[in-house]
Amino acid sequence: MRETDIRPDELMAEQARRYAADVAWLLERRDRFVEVPCPACDATESTRHWAKYELDYRRCASCESVYVSPRPEPALLDEYYRNSTNYEYWNTVVFPASEAARRERIFRPRAERVVSYARTGTLVDVGAGYGTFCEEAIALGDFDRVIALEPEPHLAQTCRDKGLEVIEAPVERAQLGVGVDVVTSFEVIEHLFAPRLFLEQCAAILRPGGLLMLTCPNVKGFDVEALGELSSTVDAEHLNYMHPASLGALLERCGFAVEQALTPGRLDAELVRKRALAGDLSLVEQPFLRRVLIDEWERLGDAFQDFLAAQGLSSNMWLIARRS
Ligand SMILES: [Zn+2]
Repeated sequence: MRETDIRPDELMAEQARRYAADVAWLLERRDRFVEVPCPACDATESTRHWAKYELDYRRCASCESVYVSPRPEPALLDEYYRNSTNYEYWNTVVFPASEAARRERIFRPRAERVVSYARTGTLVDVGAGYGTFCEEAIALGDFDRVIALEPEPHLAQTCRDKGLEVIEAPVERAQLGVGVDVVTSFEVIEHLFAPRLFLEQCAAILRPGGLLMLTCPNVKGFDVEALGELSSTVDAEHLNYMHPASLGALLERCGFAVEQALTPGRLDAELVRKRALAGDLSLVEQPFLRRVLIDEWERLGDAFQDFLAAQGLSSNMWLIARRS
């Protein structure tokens, strides 16, 4: 997989302009930011880790998760996502233009992974977005029901237009009753004000023994560690940067038993290579990385990425856990 397949360059320029406007809107409302302890372990001791977008990214002294504090209060975050011109652009332009590639490269492999763990009963996808994952889960699994939970009105409408069963609400207001067999949540938890509350809500709708499968960035992954604040993962919307151990510990505290942590990301090496080629990252004093990422890229690039993915070192992680 190459990055341009899922993020076409010509569309990303307009997307970047809109994103900058959204972030400016948010930063104008700093009076509505609040300080928080570590969202993974509740510890309060931290050091400054990155500075970007005029935000403070703190590194927890206890669990080594990174988090934005002060951060937008929950009501401000709701307004932000409702008013975002960037999300509207993704929904109306970027997703439609790249859906075929995204379906093949991201959503089908995601659905294949999910159905390899569970393929029957009721599945709820929290933060269903454009609905492509739900379509693939229906196609590949034998689920009785697949429910798209999506609070953003335009995206929820897109899911309805695709014929999906949609609940237009965040998980804490979804009124699903109980007894769900599988909850999936892709690239959601890093955006949330209170990850712990979110996981407790996921536990509340799952039946005992039900499966939670979620993905998010791994702050100890290669491209995040190599690029630091240059990494596109370090983002004003990403408030929580956990790693397999810190997210695993949080899951255990929220009533889950972790079965597996995986880092199947495919893009780390290419993302770092791109920054080096663009001159943003110097590899002058990094001869090993220069060899792998530039000089012998054709020979070593894919194998290096395979190594990162297999050893828990990619920046994209999956946690698979059962409700206790
Ligand atoms: Zn912590």
